[in-house]
Formats: sequence, C-alpha cells, structure tokens
Amino acid sequence: MTLHTALLALGFILATNHPAPGQEPTLALVGGRILDGFGGPVVENGVVLIAGERIVALGASGDLAVPAGIEVISTEGMTVLPGLFDMHVHLQILGHGDYERWNSLYGDRIGDLVMPIAARQLLMSGVTSARDLGGPLDDVLSVKRRIANGEIPGPRLFVSGPFIQREAYEPWQAEYRWGVNGAEDARRKVQQLIDAGVDVIKLIDQDQLTAEEVAAVVETAHASGVPVVAHAHRPDEIRVGLKHGVDNFEHTGLGTAPGYPEDILRALNERNASLYWTPTISPLYVMQYSGEVFPERLDDPSWRAGMPAAMADEIRASLTNIPQLPYYALFPSRISLLPAKFRQIRETGVQLLIGTDAGIPSVFHNDATWREMALWVDLGVPPMQVIQAATLWPARFLHVEDDLGTLAPGRLADIIAVRGDPLHNMAVLRNVDVVIQGGKRVK
Ligand SMILES: [Zn+2]
Repeated sequence: MTLHTALLALGFILATNHPAPGQEPTLALVGGRILDGFGGPVVENGVVLIAGERIVALGASGDLAVPAGIEVISTEGMTVLPGLFDMHVHLQILGHGDYERWNSLYGDRIGDLVMPIAARQLLMSGVTSARDLGGPLDDVLSVKRRIANGEIPGPRLFVSGPFIQREAYEPWQAEYRWGVNGAEDARRKVQQLIDAGVDVIKLIDQDQLTAEEVAAVVETAHASGVPVVAHAHRPDEIRVGLKHGVDNFEHTGLGTAPGYPEDILRALNERNASLYWTPTISPLYVMQYSGEVFPERLDDPSWRAGMPAAMADEIRASLTNIPQLPYYALFPSRISLLPAKFRQIRETGVQLLIGTDAGIPSVFHNDATWREMALWVDLGVPPMQVIQAATLWPARFLHVEDDLGTLAPGRLADIIAVRGDPLHNMAVLRNVDVVIQGGKRVK
C-alpha cells in the first residue's frame, strides 16, 4: 500500500467511524448486516449512527461505539440497506381494472384521497423515494409538497406531471395527458411544467410528434437541467428518443415482436454509459399471476391498507375477471418474449432502474417493488446489482446521490431493515420491518 492509499484508507476509517463534533448521534441501528449500496462487501454486526436527519457514522459494532442514552433500534437478524427507489409509479390509480370508471368515481379525489393512499403504501413497503411518471400536475405537486413538509407519509417524490404527447386519447384524460401542437406549443408546455416544479419530463408516443416538436421538448427540458423520460414500446419511439437525446426509456415493449432490431441495439450500445432504462418487467407477470395463477392474491387484505372499504371493494370488483380485461389477450405471447428482450437491453450496457408501473390493474403499491426486484434475480441479474438499481443508480439519475441512494456519513438517513438476506432471497423485501426516512422511524 502506498502512503497515499494508506492515508486515504485511514481518512475513510476516521470519517466512517467517528461522528464529527457537533453531530451528536440521536438514533442508532445496532446489530444487523449493513449493505451500503456501493456494491462492496457487507458489514456484519453493523452500527449506523444518525444525528437528526442524517447519517453521521457507520461501521462494525466492534469499531464504533454507541453513545449511552440514545435511542437504539435493534436490527439483529436483519439486513440494513438504503431506502428503495421505485422509478415508475402512478399515484393516481390504485390497481383498478378500468381507468375510465376509476376516473368517474375518484377523478376529483386524486390529490386529497387517492395519491396519499398510494404514497403511504409505498413508504410502508420500504420505498422511501419514488418517481411518479404521469399524473395531474397540481395534485401530484401538492402531494409531493405535503410529503416534503411532513404533513402526510410517503416517499420523497420526483414527478413528471402530465405526459407530453400528440393529444390525450380520450377527453377525460386531458388533465394528465397534455397534447402538443407545434414546436412553440411544445416549448411553452414543457417550460410551464418546469416552472411549476416537475423533476422530469415524460414523453409518450414521441414517434407521433414531429422532429421539431420532439427537439423542442428535449431542448427546453435540458436547458433547465431537467431529464427527459420516454416510453419505449415501439421501435420508432426508441429511434426518435435516441435521435433527440432522451435520458431514460421506460418499459420492455415491442408487443409480440421477438426482440429489438439491430440498429436500436447498436445505438443503445453506443449511448450505454449515458442512458438509463426502466424495464418495468414485472407488471405483466403480476397481472397474469393474479388472473390465472393465484387469484387469491386479490383477496389479500394488505393492499387495502388506508383505503375506504367502498373503494377497496370497487377495485376488487374491477379485477374479478382479469383475463377478460381488454389488453390481456396478448399477454401469453408477450410474457414469453420478455426475458429475451430484457437480456438484450441489459447486454447493451445501459443502466437499468427498478420501476413497477405500480397503480395499473392489480399492481398494488404495497406489493410491487419487491416483485420487480425478485424477477430480475430470476432473470439472471446478480442480487447486489438489483439492489443498486433500486438505490444507487436512481439517486445518480436524479442527481441526488450526495443525499440518497447509499449509506454513508453525511447522507440523509433513508434506511430500511429487513429480516433475512435479500442477496440470498430478494423476496424477503416483501415485508420490510423497519423504515427510517430523514432520520425518523416511520415503520
Ligand atoms: Zn407507467
């Protein structure tokens, strides 16, 4: 070891093991294995010291003393890891099978009733940060603000507000699907979203916009440092998105096509280090599982948490016959192709993110994120990489990696603890035992 690396190592140990003066710990997590999100070795019998809303020190219990008299949470038998990000959720829907009916029943209760239910369920599932990709602007911004102010429980929200597209498919969707007509209109609407406070811009059907319109969307967003997230269901959606420099694609699409075309794979390969992809691969599996494999899942009371009984009954009734929902017909042929498409995307080296489309039919917010993670493991992704796709990488994409996504001194204390070992069995994340957000225990 050179002197330089020795000093670095020493500095690291000091920084890690001793809170700086003025950062008197107020809370300690003691006993569990620490998985810090950086992808290195885990720390057995770990201690995490928290002062106020931030982590001040962490390390092995033999190296790091717990000050007398502070609050201690035992994490014996557990894995302690960064709070999860779900990078693709919809807070305005709660798993109902018919969006138009849902809108007619609850369309005027989105901000005050619906979104807070989804937010709380996510948080109780260990999702301490979430990205909402498509919802009415005022409602989602108000929910984001109320969560940030501590008025209601929920993940730290990063939001797009309405989709940007050619035009809403149906008039009743106009609040969350904004049509653009011409480059000037596109520029004005994107700027309006940015001025209102969105964190990302969400493009959909960009292959139906003109090149000038797409360019206006991306340039306007990037001029304010706001990333553009785009749907990737059709090859031309991907081609147009790549041409204009979108930052993140969503879904594993292409319907019943067997795989991604060569030109797209080549282009992804060239962009790989600078491009993110949220494959949202689990929703089809969850719907099929609920419709044909284990419908009893729909009677599990856990997804009703926080809902008025009439609302939960309404959702349950809408899912009585999932295989007869209109979009279900192509499922069997689509699902069998997903693993190969997922592998194709993965092999291009783009950075994958965990996202679930939580809120779409039967994909409940309390039961989505761990399923996506477990499925990735089934599809061959090393478990540590899966966890980083729900922690480190989302934080980097959102430019909040100095605060979130890993456990280190100075980071916000968004931490979960779960009984068992997610590196051995990702499904243990189904029941998160401890959730700490900003240094406060919320579960
Ligand atoms: Zn979605």
